[in-house]
Amino acid sequence: MAKGPAVITGGLVLAAVTGQAAAADLLLQDDLIAAIAPPGSVTSESTRRIDATDRLIIPGLINAHTHGHGGLAKGSGDRWSLETLLNAGPWLNGGRDDDDRYLSTLLAAVEMLRKGCTACYDLAALLPYPSVEGLHSVSRAYSDAGMRAVIAPMIADRSFYQAIPGLLDAFPPELRAIADAMRTAPGETTLAAIRETAASWSHPSDRIRLGIAPTIPLHCSDAFLSGCRDLANEYGLPLQTHLAESSVQRTAALKQYGVSLTRHLDQLGMLGPRFSAAHAIWLDAEEIDLIGERGGAIAHNPGSNLRLGNGIADMRPAIARGIAVGVGTDGSSSADNQNMFEAMRLAAFVSRVFDRPPEDWIGAVEALRLATEGSAAVLGMSDLIGRIAPGYKADLVFLDLDHVNLVPLNNAAQQLVNGEDGTAVRDVMVGGEYVLRDGVLVGIDWPRIVARARAAAERLKEANAGSRAAAEKLAPVISHFCIGLGRCAHDLPRKLQA
Ligand SMILES: [Zn+2]
Repeated sequence: MAKGPAVITGGLVLAAVTGQAAAADLLLQDDLIAAIAPPGSVTSESTRRIDATDRLIIPGLINAHTHGHGGLAKGSGDRWSLETLLNAGPWLNGGRDDDDRYLSTLLAAVEMLRKGCTACYDLAALLPYPSVEGLHSVSRAYSDAGMRAVIAPMIADRSFYQAIPGLLDAFPPELRAIADAMRTAPGETTLAAIRETAASWSHPSDRIRLGIAPTIPLHCSDAFLSGCRDLANEYGLPLQTHLAESSVQRTAALKQYGVSLTRHLDQLGMLGPRFSAAHAIWLDAEEIDLIGERGGAIAHNPGSNLRLGNGIADMRPAIARGIAVGVGTDGSSSADNQNMFEAMRLAAFVSRVFDRPPEDWIGAVEALRLATEGSAAVLGMSDLIGRIAPGYKADLVFLDLDHVNLVPLNNAAQQLVNGEDGTAVRDVMVGGEYVLRDGVLVGIDWPRIVARARAAAERLKEANAGSRAAAEKLAPVISHFCIGLGRCAHDLPRKLQA
């Protein structure tokens, strides 16, 4: 934590409302922004000076949905649907020890920081179930990188193969035996581990919070979902799930529950102000209303949705309904980079494919707001981060005004959202302390991490070769079955009104 007062002087500061940049000084006290002051107005000799000449200062971007476990699995798969990705989960993320978990998360954290993101919501898969030590390895990665995070263990008590009605029966017997053998840990074991972690969590709540992520509702029995809800209520944990991410999930839910996914979760008492839905593509108007009524939020992941062919989530009706919408990248095995500039740009651009006039599209200023204030709401940290304003944490990103992306600077918001790719980021500060300075990571021995990550990836490739071969045998049946199931959803009524 920064000691005493400091002033960041000489830079341009982005104004969130107008999207314009203007010369201003930022007065810091400890880890907070104390005031925005006219340039050069802070003259006190006891105030430490931080030079921001030739820098554009923006609030740290906030990633509303990612998976640190994707760090070691980047570059996997290409023409994968969500369902073939889930089938690959055991070899992508399995066989890991706590050191692998630390490395994978650190790779994701480093990429986020380098690309101007200072906080994230990480749905962390720790196979076969999340141990207390495993979750501490993940939290240590964020702590070492200097990022804020919500770490929500991604859990289930049904395998992917059990979760899709009819899928197991679609396999010929020898393949069915392989799919049938893939089981999750018992639900009670998983929930007990999270309870133990929640009871012993010692990170400051403004830095690293524990959350809980029943991964995909269909992968969880009602008893397991209720167990997650109770833990979230007991320990005040943010709860996030992948909601209606694919058309397959929408159809499967109607088959399984007789009602929509969101209605089913609501019947179990899962929705509320600590609830957020990742993706939220295949929702109808009633589901949007339910999320809004209960005070829930949505994490919009346009890059991942395009990559996996899931469709395009229409965020305008949710925003119009007053729902907090944040922007996420999703994990590196589905998205693939951890670049919030790209995620913002895609959020803006995909909003234009619906049949609406341009004034209803997501513009640059709004995209920036979603990726800062909106995502802060998803993390449950609206009162701490997402704004450059007095009383907020000094989580700041400094872009090089001499970088070609910003020369000339005609319109800050538009150049940040429509043009920036993260390469103009020079410095990043979290809580008033540099974590990236002049392009160099402050708390990380990067060459050492590189060597360790390469060695871990090689070892895991070998260790998971068998489960990879098994998954590759199952993939064609899954692909064929799910295309048929998913198509049914296209015929269901889901008209949304903005
Ligand atoms: Zn995800």
